[in-house]
Amino acid sequence: MKIDILTIFPDFFRGPLDYGIVRRAREAGLVEVNIHDLRAFAHDRHRTVDDRPFGGGEGMVLKPEPIFECIETLGMVAREERAPEKQSVILLSAQGRRFAQAEAADLSSLERMVLICGRYEGVDERVGHYLADRELSIGDYVLSGGELGAAVIVDTVIRLIPGAVGNQASTQQESFTLGESIEGTSSTCVSGGLLDYPHYTRPAEFRGMPVPEVLFSGNHEEIKRWRRRTALEKTLRNRPDLLDGVELNSEDEKFMAQLLRAGESQEEH
Ligand code: SAH
Repeated sequence: MKIDILTIFPDFFRGPLDYGIVRRAREAGLVEVNIHDLRAFAHDRHRTVDDRPFGGGEGMVLKPEPIFECIETLGMVAREERAPEKQSVILLSAQGRRFAQAEAADLSSLERMVLICGRYEGVDERVGHYLADRELSIGDYVLSGGELGAAVIVDTVIRLIPGAVGNQASTQQESFTLGESIEGTSSTCVSGGLLDYPHYTRPAEFRGMPVPEVLFSGNHEEIKRWRRRTALEKTLRNRPDLLDGVELNSEDEKFMAQLLRAGESQEEH
């Protein structure tokens, strides 16, 4: 995959893309990331990339010309002719559709992904309207620039490119992932859209804090059941909204009913 990032702060990306899985994927040639400095596409003496908003109001707005010009140098297909499953131009924006794991999985099969980072009050709306094919937000809060958002999207997408993570089964078993259990792996539990189950490693007892007994039992069925239950419990506690999209089997249902009853009786005391 080829990734291009348009920004007025190119140095920002020294760091976020230079570690771990993302670094290895770049070094292995699974992905090529190019950062483009929008100021290089501003032609006045001061390399101006922003201007005051029409209609008045606070702050400055990123001008459209440098962004359009920069994209034109990338040899992208015109937006009307672009195959959305091959190429995507993404505008980072607090007003965008909320980015989530399912979209990361979609994006990971693109040949080319271009990310436009806004700053100040935002980007001239013609960029979102005529140039980008998606406007994405990484969450319901306002960042001071699109760079952190772009780094988040690039990280989540790259780790889903086949070969980027050593054991591909592991990316199927994570939080938010509706992934399928992969035959022939020692798959212990699939998230099925729940949060991930709790993980423990040595030491077995640390400062009086033990690891749950069941994990030493060697009984894979028991372990799987425990993992499913703890994932359900954690999802109910931290992200009950996710449960709407999850298929529960009859054992899950029973366990959830138990949890809810326990919660109610606690409230009564
Ligand atoms: N005035 C805008 C916020 C501008 S913040 C508003 O109220 O919606 C400046 C830039 O930061 C934006 O252009 C965008 O590129 C980026 N940004 C801010 N919040 C973001 C978010 N939640 N997700 C992705 N990008 C965001």
